Amino acid sequence: MRYRILVASRSFGSTSSKPWDVLNQAGCEILQADMTHKMTEERLIELLQDVDGAIIGVVPMTDYVMDHCPNLKVVSMHGVGVDHIDLTAAAQRGIVIANCLGANDQSVADLTIGLMISIARDIPSVDRLVRGGGWGAYEGHELWNKTLGLIGLGRIGRGVAKRALGFDMKVLAYDPYVQPENVEQDISLVSFDKVLREADYISLHATLSEETRHMIGAAQLQAMKPTAYLINTARGALVDEEALYTALINKQISGAALDVYNDEPPKGSPLLQLENVVVTPHIGAHTRESIERVGVMAAENVLRTLQGGQPHYRVV
Ligand code: NAD
Repeated sequence: MRYRILVASRSFGSTSSKPWDVLNQAGCEILQADMTHKMTEERLIELLQDVDGAIIGVVPMTDYVMDHCPNLKVVSMHGVGVDHIDLTAAAQRGIVIANCLGANDQSVADLTIGLMISIARDIPSVDRLVRGGGWGAYEGHELWNKTLGLIGLGRIGRGVAKRALGFDMKVLAYDPYVQPENVEQDISLVSFDKVLREADYISLHATLSEETRHMIGAAQLQAMKPTAYLINTARGALVDEEALYTALINKQISGAALDVYNDEPPKGSPLLQLENVVVTPHIGAHTRESIERVGVMAAENVLRTLQGGQPHYRVV
């Protein structure tokens, strides 16, 4: 059987041919979407006609889109977050939704530590300073012996904890869905409030859901230490960006390092004007190693499902 597969992800197979090989070796007909401009529902519907399976990035896989694509049987997220996919609509139509859990967490954990050091030592500003012919000594902060507060103790949260323990950090974590007996000895599972009040670095690693949307708002920022830093490599909507801006200009917290935003790219966001903010363009999973692993897993997710089996990770 020759399957028709849509690839609507910017980075699928961009660092190695292996993900493409998986599809080609199975004799698939591959349709590659132009990802240079924003994907609309209408364009997605057009591309998905007569398609059996799709590998997607952050594109609007809505009820409306699925309603107009009767052939679609399986969608694999080229990554982990599926908050842009209407899971209820997919389940109602029997469309399998899969993701690539565990394939990119090491890369995101690495970047999180990188952002922590970057904001604590103000690396981007001093880089600009030296390039501009200047010299100077900004007094930063150490990670050593400080308290890290993790919000969300899944794969990435645990990866960050493991790295932070190497810096002799004290690691607190809040995750209402994790049982204490399943937590490593060096990590203290505590309340949300305790993380907010005691952490020097708060790093977000929770899934985005209606429950977690804007879980960091004005009240939570107010509860944090004035010397604390907020790092978000999870999803932009976990944070109320207006409240974050206010907290940063009023020095309620020391700084923030962000890889993800409410709107991506965050064009025109006032956060980009602040000196105490470090920003990266949603590159958490963008390493050569991770892009290859995720691509292979996404391709296998789609093929396994079409061939009557189960994907590596089935969401619905
Ligand atoms: P995961 O599913 O392994 O972990 C998510 C954790 O969030 C789970 O342990 C879950 O119990 C917890 N959680 C759910 N609701 C919560 C709540 N109300 N409070 C606290 N914790 C809660 O997922 P993961 O692979 O570790 O991904 C973590 C986050 O990183 C997700 O938001 C994902 O979308 C994001 N992510 C970002 C990038 C990037 O490029 N920046 C790449 C991959 C994943």
